Amino acid sequence: MEEWKEHFDSSKIPKYRVELHIHLDGSVRPETIWEISQRKGIHLASSSADFCSSLVTKQPSNLANYLAPIATYLPVIAGDEEAIERIAFEFCEDAAREHLLYAETRYSPHLLATEGFPPERVVECVNRGLKNGCERFGVDIRSILCSIRGNQSAYRLGIHRTVHAGEDGPADQVRFALEHLFAERIGHGYHVMEDEALYRRCLDMDVHFEACPHSSLLTGAVTDRTIKHPIVRYAEDRANFSINRDDSTLIQKTLEDEYEMLRGFGLSDLHFARAVSNIISL
Ligand SMILES: [Zn+2]
Repeated sequence: MEEWKEHFDSSKIPKYRVELHIHLDGSVRPETIWEISQRKGIHLASSSADFCSSLVTKQPSNLANYLAPIATYLPVIAGDEEAIERIAFEFCEDAAREHLLYAETRYSPHLLATEGFPPERVVECVNRGLKNGCERFGVDIRSILCSIRGNQSAYRLGIHRTVHAGEDGPADQVRFALEHLFAERIGHGYHVMEDEALYRRCLDMDVHFEACPHSSLLTGAVTDRTIKHPIVRYAEDRANFSINRDDSTLIQKTLEDEYEMLRGFGLSDLHFARAVSNIISL
């Protein structure tokens, strides 16, 4: 054995990470939602513990069930300047706890807007919260605005593009995202494996896959246990991919939990190092 390997201790490597696929409105601290709801007199559940446990899908389900809690608690935050700024600020503090050097959080300004509180103001509040949070906690967090895909002019305007595709839908969604929306990154993309030629094309094009281990199971996006989990293939085939939580409120897992799950699937520290360093090529 080479001598350096005898002394190699991966636990001594600082666990600095990046996260590129995490929804701001799906990553709100449950205690923050509960506190604001109590102040506003909005009934969410009979106790904070009940509310917390109602957030996570109890078993592998479908995307609609997985996302349902967001629609329940979003009215607590929407149209509230202080609340929106607060969740962005707290996102930064949570990112620092997760050893995130860099993250991109995404949200739809329209979903946090209300009558009299336009999407532009939502963006201002989020930007303020992120700026203050980044300064306070020493992290680098940027944001991605989610838009309705039929109206996407981002390519024409030279704005970078990532598209949810092939999560619970077929491989053709990935093809559509690449050919019609000019996606540079694909959110999830697991079902691209159903079309080997398309997957190979993605590898050749160095398309980045934003992989989300726990959500891939909770949403029912990946159910076939007889095949390799698509994230394992991303890793083995040296695809350009990252490891993300998708919605920390809805999965109630840390980033370390995500890595631990992938360790159980056979991924190594080398795979993880590559997944973190893939961001350099983006
Ligand atoms: Zn997502």
